[in-house]
Amino acid sequence: MSMEAELIRSLIRRPATLLYPFKRRPLIEGLRGKHTWDSERCIGCGLCARDCPAFAIEMIGTGPTAELKVDLGECIFCGQCEEGCPREAIKLTEFYELADPKRKNLILEFKRESV
Ligand code: SF4
Ligand code: SF4
Repeated sequence: MSMEAELIRSLIRRPATLLYPFKRRPLIEGLRGKHTWDSERCIGCGLCARDCPAFAIEMIGTGPTAELKVDLGECIFCGQCEEGCPREAIKLTEFYELADPKRKNLILEFKRESV
């Protein structure tokens, strides 16, 4: 295609991008976003941290009093932690707008109410 034809095509074609954040595409099914953690379900087995291919999960302690840190800056959102958790305690939500100018804000600290 000649450059002129390509130019004309680009001028009449609808833009491929959206005016984010004012417009958004519908979420795709199975989207993996920010984690949630249910402290009452978690038994602190450490499987999620052990299986995480990105080493994004840090266990604070072990057993039923253990707490978790998830580093979203390292996470590749593969879903392995959710899949491998024997208690369905850690899950990935559809919340994907995670950008933050401060690196420390990308670390989720999951704490128990009373340990
Ligand atoms: S979230 Fe699941 S896999 Fe991770 S420590 Fe708790 S029970 Fe184990
Ligand atoms: S989604 Fe994957 S990379 Fe992210 S914390 Fe879970 S296991 Fe690790």
